[in-house]
Amino acid sequence: MANYYRQAAGETAISCERIDSVEKVLQGGTIVDPSQRLHGRYDLLIRDGLVAEIAEKISARGRKPVDVSGLVLTPGLIDLHTHLREPGEEHKETVLTACAAAVAGGYTAVTAMPNTNPVTDDAGKVRHIKRLAAKAGLARVFPVGAVTKGLQGRELSGIAAMVSEGACAVTDDGRGVQDSGLLRQALQVCARCDIPLLEHCEDETLAGCGQVHEGEIAEKLGLPGIPASSETVMVARDALLSAETGAHVHFMHVSSASSVEIIRLAKKYQLNVTAEATPHHLLLSEAAADGYNTAAKMKPPLRSEADRQALVQALAENIIDVVATDHAPHAEVEKEQDFTAAPFGVVGLETAFPLLYTYLVRPGIITLDRLVAKMSCRPAEILKLPYGTLAPGSPADIAAFNLQEERTIDSNFFCSKGKNTPFHGWKVYGFPVMTIVGGRVVMRDGVINYGEGLEQ
Ligand SMILES: [Zn+2]
Repeated sequence: MANYYRQAAGETAISCERIDSVEKVLQGGTIVDPSQRLHGRYDLLIRDGLVAEIAEKISARGRKPVDVSGLVLTPGLIDLHTHLREPGEEHKETVLTACAAAVAGGYTAVTAMPNTNPVTDDAGKVRHIKRLAAKAGLARVFPVGAVTKGLQGRELSGIAAMVSEGACAVTDDGRGVQDSGLLRQALQVCARCDIPLLEHCEDETLAGCGQVHEGEIAEKLGLPGIPASSETVMVARDALLSAETGAHVHFMHVSSASSVEIIRLAKKYQLNVTAEATPHHLLLSEAAADGYNTAAKMKPPLRSEADRQALVQALAENIIDVVATDHAPHAEVEKEQDFTAAPFGVVGLETAFPLLYTYLVRPGIITLDRLVAKMSCRPAEILKLPYGTLAPGSPADIAAFNLQEERTIDSNFFCSKGKNTPFHGWKVYGFPVMTIVGGRVVMRDGVINYGEGLEQ
C-alpha cells in the first residue's frame, strides 16, 4: 500500500492527507449530500483520494469493500470557528489534539483562530500553522489571520501577505474590532483579497467586565451582566460598513434576538453578510450558568430563552447560515477557579453534530439535509474551499454517523485536552463512527488513525 502526500493545484488549503492508493467502495450507506441534493441509499467509490463515483451498486471486485450499512454518510463537517491554542497555550490544546477531536467529531476541516501566542498576524506565522497541521496529518487546517497586529486593534496586520500564504479569512476573534475607521480599512483590503472578515461582535464599552448575560441569572448570582446591545450595535455597524465596502462580513457566534433582526434586515437588502450560531447558543440559555457553573461561561454569554428560540428560528429560516463550534479548550484547573476568574469558552468539536441532530433534527425543527448543509456545504462556500461536497472529482472527505444508537456524552473520553463542556451527561443520537480525509480513514469507532511516521 503506497502512501504519499498530495498537493492539489490551486488549493489554499493544506493538503496533509496521505492517500491510500487502494480503491475503496463504501457499501450500504445512506448518502446525504445537500450540495448535490442527494439523499438516498448509494455506494461510493474512492480512488486516489477523490470521490470517483456514487451509484446504487458499485462492484467491490479488486477493491477494498468498507461496510457502512446502517450509517449516514455526509461530506466531512467543516468548522468555521476553532481555537487550536497552539502555538503558546499547549497545556489547553495542540494542533494535533484539536485535529484528533475534529475527526472524532466528524470534522474533516477546521479553521485556526489567530488568538494564539504569538498571534497569527503575518505570513510567517500562517506558514507555521500550516507546518504544524501537516505534521498532525489528520484534519485539514485553514489558518485565519488577525485583522490587527497582535489583536491590539490599533494597526492593520499584513492581510494580503497572509492571504497569499494561505490564510482563508481574517478575524480578531476573542475581541471585536473596536475602531470603526480601522475596520472600514480592513474591509476594503478584504474585498480586494476576496476573503471574508469574521467578526466577533462585542462593543467593549458596553460589555465592560460582564460575566454572564445581563438578565435574571446575573441578578440572582450578583454578577456583572453583558447586555445584548454589546453584540447588536457591532452587528449593525458592520452591516453598514459591509454595504459601503462590498466586503463579506461573517458574524460569528450570534447570540441575541436583536442581532438576528439586524441580520435579517441586512439580508433583505442583499448585503454581503453571513452568520453563524454555536450549538451551545442554540441549545442552552443563561440558566445553564446558574450555580456559578463555569462550564457554561463563554463569550458571547448564553442569553435568555427568548433569544435562544429566536436563534433556532433564524437557523430554520436560513438567516443563520452555518453552525460553528467556537471550540475553546481550557485546562480543568483554569475552569475550576471562581466564576469571575475562570476563562470564557467551551469545547465543541466532538459533540456538535450529535447534539444538533438529537435536539433539532429529531424533533423536526430542521431537516437532516439542512443541518449537513450548515455544518459542511455552507462553511465551504463561505471560505471558497473545494470541500463540503461528495460530487465526483471532489476530495473524499467524508463523515459517517450512526443515527440509531443512543449514547451519553462523557467528556472524560474526549480526544481534546479540553473537557470544558456544558453537555457532559447529555444523551444523544448521531455519534460519528467513521471519518475519512482525502480517502484515508482517520477515525473509526472513536479510534484515531494517526498513520505511520507521523508525530503523535
Ligand atoms: Zn469570539
